[in-house]
Amino acid sequence: MTKYIVVSGGVVSGIGKGVIASSTGLLLKTTGLKVTAIKIDPYMNIDAGTMRPQEHGEVYVLNDGGEVDLDLGNYERYLDVTLSRDNNITTGKIYREVIEKERRGDYLGKTVQIVPHVTNAIQDWIERVSKVPVDDTNEEPDVCIVELGGTVGDIESAPFVEAMRQFQFRVGYDNFALIHVSLVPDMHGEQKTKPTQTTVHALRGLGLLPDLIACRVVVQKPLEPATKSKISMFCHVAPEQVVGVHDVSSVYHVPLLLQSQGIVQYLQKRLNLASVKITPEMQQHGLSLGNRWRELTSRQERLFDDVTITLVGKYTDMGDSYMSVVKSLEHSAFRCNRKLILKWVDASDLEPQAQITSPAKYHDAWKAVVSANGILVPGGFGIRGSEGMMLAIKWAREQKIPFFGICLGFQLAVVEWARHICGLTNAISGEFDSKAEHPVIVFMPEISKTHMGGTMRLGLRPTVFDPESESWSKVRKLYGGAPKIWERHRHRYEVNPAYIEQLAASGLSFVGKDERGERMQVLELEDHPYFVGVQAHPEFCTRPLNPSPPFLGFVAAASGEAVLKEQLEGQLRSFKPPHPESAMVDEAALRHGSPRPQGEEAIMDAEP
Ligand code: GLN
Repeated sequence: MTKYIVVSGGVVSGIGKGVIASSTGLLLKTTGLKVTAIKIDPYMNIDAGTMRPQEHGEVYVLNDGGEVDLDLGNYERYLDVTLSRDNNITTGKIYREVIEKERRGDYLGKTVQIVPHVTNAIQDWIERVSKVPVDDTNEEPDVCIVELGGTVGDIESAPFVEAMRQFQFRVGYDNFALIHVSLVPDMHGEQKTKPTQTTVHALRGLGLLPDLIACRVVVQKPLEPATKSKISMFCHVAPEQVVGVHDVSSVYHVPLLLQSQGIVQYLQKRLNLASVKITPEMQQHGLSLGNRWRELTSRQERLFDDVTITLVGKYTDMGDSYMSVVKSLEHSAFRCNRKLILKWVDASDLEPQAQITSPAKYHDAWKAVVSANGILVPGGFGIRGSEGMMLAIKWAREQKIPFFGICLGFQLAVVEWARHICGLTNAISGEFDSKAEHPVIVFMPEISKTHMGGTMRLGLRPTVFDPESESWSKVRKLYGGAPKIWERHRHRYEVNPAYIEQLAASGLSFVGKDERGERMQVLELEDHPYFVGVQAHPEFCTRPLNPSPPFLGFVAAASGEAVLKEQLEGQLRSFKPPHPESAMVDEAALRHGSPRPQGEEAIMDAEP
């Protein structure tokens, strides 16, 4: 029987519920258990694919092409698992399933209602997905973390809270525990418990009892013993059921912070985890994971040399918009024993007109670019800032500063090259000007022109390296010398086949292509410390203990020639791809943006 740990939130959202939930999962993994995770987002969108990053953070992409909430990234990274689109439940997905069933006549004669039809659909979904293997063992997980987005008491999350209330009886007491994450504000040095009392009261009123109350103290001061006693007293839980999570220097410390407060022992007892069979190999595996994690976090405190990376993007107001990019840089910096100093530049501030409209910003932006050890241009959509991005790319190319371009960053590196090396002065991406004279980047033929949700080229796709560049390509070495690799994609545009010959002849090497050799996926300059662009989004496959290869190369190059050399040799010796080749994209599911429950082919196929 799967053990379920529901993580709910109270008072306010955005206090790190996802980190607490994934840290809990990680801790259980260190005991040898197999852990999976489900994130519930109570919004009506089918998925996060159509949401603006500024509003909801980055759109995270899975192997199967699912465009999901960024918390799934936390789970994949912390738990080292591969999740599917079904691991992200939204109100949109549940309602669609129920409505489709109703149209098919599955509920014939009945009134279809939130309770029990919607709440049953939620519970069935969780039960089904919690059993899907997510790691190399290919076995059913022992524990499923279910993170309930939003805060308890919202109108939006009500059906999910009610579903969880019913679920505790469906699976039984020993198989269901609840962690409620609450806020403990610090008011002029005094920790206040009233918001926690109120939210726990609301939770109980809805029929859910907290097994653990995780108190977020959003200052760098631990939860005080007196606050803990008070919460225990007024929320009717034992003191050991109250844990504090104050701000720490790095989120990688959160698992250790929770561990030091005994949550593993508590959950072991509460969920009778001793009854779960753990093989000696898994136990060993867990132990080594725990040790490596501890080593990583303690080493992080002792890093003195730093590396400055300047990220030239569009949504620089929020780190969440580029969450996985930041994580990939962090993981790579750990590996290179460097402290990461990340600078954000809004690409439009680099453009000439900013000199007049906002000279101070223009000056600061250029200062960040010229003082960087490495320049990164991430993925994005739309023309705003693209000229500024290309100015940064040109600087990096000419000054031989390590550069890494991802998706849009890759495409713009091609445009910049076409303009300044091939002499196509008005080259541009077809995304910005569909009638351009030299659209060196064009709309891909297979992409829908009418539908936005789930219609890009999405998910895990292969890249085949060009044998001719094997001797010098740094990217190839970073992937351990493998001839074929897999990364996740999310794009509508590609390098225009009509210009490939001209681009390549002038020295822009496309070292990685799709399986047919028609689509350009990795570019690299031979005569440069590190100038790499990738059409994929390798940031979605990074792991704290196994950084994404092209990011690692980039950060290593930014840290110096010797570091890069050391990392290239290390990767050639020991790189293990994180993904099995078998994890293929399900094109049909992609087209519809969600899995198709069996037997509804006819209805689904009637859709445009
Ligand atoms: N806008 C570009 C495209 O659709 C790049 C996408 C991206 O960076 N994710 O191809």
